[in-house]
Amino acid sequence: MERNDLEVAIIGAGMSGLLMGIRLQQAGIERFRIFEKASRIGGTWRENTYPGLTCDVPSFFYSYSFETNPDWSHRFAPGPEIQAYFERVAAKYDLDRYIEFDTEIRDARYQAGAWTIETQKGEEIRAKFLVMATGPLHHKHIPDIPGLQSFAGAAFHTAAWDHDVPLEGRRIGIIGTGSTAVQAVTPLSKLASQLTIFQRTAQWIYPIGNVAYTDAQRARKRRFPLLSKLTRLWYKQLFEASSAAVVKEGFFRRRLQQGCKDHLATVADPELRRKLTPDYEPGCKRLVMSTDFYDSVQKKNVHLEVSHIHQIEPEGVRTEDGQLHELDVLVLATGFDPHAWGVEQVVGAEGRSLAQAWKEGTRTYRSIAMPGFPNLFFLAGPQCPLGNISVIDVSETQADYILRTIQKLDREGFESIEVTREATEAFNQSVKEAMKGTLWVTGCKSWYLDESGDPVLWPWSARRFHRDLARPDYAHYQLRRAA
Ligand code: NAP
Repeated sequence: MERNDLEVAIIGAGMSGLLMGIRLQQAGIERFRIFEKASRIGGTWRENTYPGLTCDVPSFFYSYSFETNPDWSHRFAPGPEIQAYFERVAAKYDLDRYIEFDTEIRDARYQAGAWTIETQKGEEIRAKFLVMATGPLHHKHIPDIPGLQSFAGAAFHTAAWDHDVPLEGRRIGIIGTGSTAVQAVTPLSKLASQLTIFQRTAQWIYPIGNVAYTDAQRARKRRFPLLSKLTRLWYKQLFEASSAAVVKEGFFRRRLQQGCKDHLATVADPELRRKLTPDYEPGCKRLVMSTDFYDSVQKKNVHLEVSHIHQIEPEGVRTEDGQLHELDVLVLATGFDPHAWGVEQVVGAEGRSLAQAWKEGTRTYRSIAMPGFPNLFFLAGPQCPLGNISVIDVSETQADYILRTIQKLDREGFESIEVTREATEAFNQSVKEAMKGTLWVTGCKSWYLDESGDPVLWPWSARRFHRDLARPDYAHYQLRRAA
């Protein structure tokens, strides 16, 4: 393959980049490469290996529609099983042939009718189309807490877990109470002599149990592959319908909120319950799901600290009430920078970077394209449906849209396609209108919000997303032939 004259350059060999590769290959498009900064595929499932890691979307739904897996061990499979699934799929489609590992893209520029991308080694590669498959939660958020570097024990982010650090019988502190921390707390509470959870904002937690599938159930699904497909469909309907229903005021939102409140009421100590009670509506932040977090928080060796962190000292964490919490291990479950979309510099046709274009707020055309950035597409990027649904399903719709567009340009001899400003503005105006009355604007601090404080997600149902993106509307684009 002529590497310097690609049809498509994909950045990222996680779930969505692999998917795009499979779709291109199936369509007979061979001149593409997937650039991956690490030495393995997997994206978030490669990076995150913390104890307790599972997916909070049912695994039958959190898998490719064309690669159902009868062998999931649990309704919400553990992280290593999900990583193994992606590795199996990548091997089946022989994707290694197309992936350039250990190749980080630092800079991408649209020049003279094509994208020129530059690797960290200084190599330049030209491609007609650029697909950003870098994922929304990619850059670790390391909190700017005074003294963090001075800590004498072991400190690490949950997405860079140091498995060499012994945990048994040690004094462990964990900063954060998001989905990650909530998953990690139970296994850590079983190992630590003392576990301190540093909570800045309380979280609503909805209890959904994780059932294990029996050998007989797995064997049945292996024997009748249709069963896996039906299970996927069932979870898709259930999670997409309930996610859409709770966003707007009504019966389902009240049911969800009551479910969270009833679950919180299981905490026996009124003082601990008060500390765990959020001051915003359930569902405003991404909903955390767990059936064991409250049990773990009530254990004797677990302490929930709500006095905010003042500074970190060699011996531990000092909170604003003056207390020093002595620790051996400090875990940063502090999430990711949701405003860092993978590549440092992506510069469009007018010399403006994506970062500059999004200074006032992250806006796209239907989550897929940007005016001023011809032949550039996003997978699982800003403004796609989020929440407790499958981002794989969302990416499949986007990948099909991108493939259709690439095929159209090739078939009809166009050099480039660029979404118009008018179509983008009209889309964002309707997003703004639709956001009114949604859960996400009921008043909370959340990674769903962009720099201007507006939610960066799809305000309608996932069903509408699949419908609206089923076919590209070329009236919203400018198509150009080579001069
Ligand atoms: P997160 O939801 O952004 O939570 C970060 C936590 O760290 C918050 O509690 C935050 O407090 C706290 N924090 C950040 N900076 C702090 C500081 N300087 N001092 C004190 N506390 C600080 O991150 P996450 O838990 O890693 O989850 C991110 C997303 O990953 C989730 O929403 C979900 O989409 C995904 N995820 C999914 C799964 C899954 O099962 N599919 C599992 C884990 C994660 P504030 O709330 O006050 O900001």
